[in-house]
Amino acid sequence: MAEISTQQTNSAPAATPYTPRYIDIGINLADPIFRGRYHGKPRHPDDLKAVVGRAVEVGCTKLIVTGSSFKSSRDALELAKEFPGTVFSTAGIHPCSSSIFSPSHHKHHDESQSEGEEDEHTPACDPDPTKPIPDGDGVDHERSAKIIADLSDLIAQARNDASSSSAPQLVAFGEFGLDYDRLHYCSKEVQLHSFAAQLALAASLAPQLPLFLHSRAAHADFVRLLKDAFGPRLERLEKGGVVHSFTGTVAEMRELMDLGLYIGINGCSFKTAENCDVVREVELSRLMMETDGPWCEVRPSHEGWKYLVEWEAKAKATADAEAIAAAETKLAAAADSAPPSEGQEDAGQPERKQRPKRKPQQQQQGKKNQKKETEVPERYKVVKKEKWEEGAMVKGRNEPCTIERIAKIVAGIKGVPLEEVCEAAWANTVKVFGLDS
Ligand SMILES: [Zn+2]
Repeated sequence: MAEISTQQTNSAPAATPYTPRYIDIGINLADPIFRGRYHGKPRHPDDLKAVVGRAVEVGCTKLIVTGSSFKSSRDALELAKEFPGTVFSTAGIHPCSSSIFSPSHHKHHDESQSEGEEDEHTPACDPDPTKPIPDGDGVDHERSAKIIADLSDLIAQARNDASSSSAPQLVAFGEFGLDYDRLHYCSKEVQLHSFAAQLALAASLAPQLPLFLHSRAAHADFVRLLKDAFGPRLERLEKGGVVHSFTGTVAEMRELMDLGLYIGINGCSFKTAENCDVVREVELSRLMMETDGPWCEVRPSHEGWKYLVEWEAKAKATADAEAIAAAETKLAAAADSAPPSEGQEDAGQPERKQRPKRKPQQQQQGKKNQKKETEVPERYKVVKKEKWEEGAMVKGRNEPCTIERIAKIVAGIKGVPLEEVCEAAWANTVKVFGLDS
């Protein structure tokens, strides 16, 4: 979509419109939901290729697929091989998947599918504080050593595979970190162990990988463990890192930026007015964008939604004004070239040519409409999973093509052109993850 600017409503032809480009730094494409499987049950055909296709169509030409467990890390790597140059992967153990470090965990971390496919799903992004797992269970250190050795092997294997192919596949260590909003998946004690153990592994890699980090309601511990592993200024962190799906405070965000870290913004970062205030303060030089699909879609109840509504109303007003201008130009040209066969047509011609432009008036109307408008158009049809059809998105399953909404909202909140947001995030992402631009 063309950049929206009031200058572009002049009759002079607009400058070449900007074509946005995006990299989704956090998309859980290894989740079976993108194969049509919901909680272990097939609901519709595998439409992963279409999901990737829609992303590419909107300009989201690179997708970093999150590995958050052994299984999803391996599946993400397979996807990177399947879509070389488009899909890249990460490998790590999410705090919500870190109960594998606990002695009460009942199965080997490396087992897949044996306990029901629900375990394969990426943990939902919303907190559920009703059943936190208490500390006291401790950590199974023997098991932990095996997990870290296996993760190290997985990374070494991926790097080995990559050296024989042209495109990098594994581009980050993670997703890992701390999540005190979701202690029902894993206790704080075990999360702290999981994060520290993985940080030690990340610091020992030669060369290191950039970090793909998760921090929820755990800022002080999160920063303390990062500094323990990489030094008080993270001076031993060679490739940098991003704290994705950021929902913390302005002060926390500033501390992370001061440490040289990048901030990943998705739909969860726009929920409240306070969230949006934080987004406003993210330096463009520190910004990355993501969808975190299938989770974290932007919803009408989110504070950030209004920026999307504003954006779409402005885009519509501009398009309407341009359409009118084009029609008038066409009319005038037709009148100029039409042979004057009848006297009365001659009489109409000068009046038509000299008619003042109507764009300012049209813009006024656009502004009026904007107040009433609360819906934003869907680029693709959206259907319920029970009514799945080819080419349609599935209601409630966020996918990478919606990243354009993230960019529009960030641009709206910060009051800067879309192009600045997209190009900054693109450059930051390419640089940190070592992607080709
Ligand atoms: Zn996360």
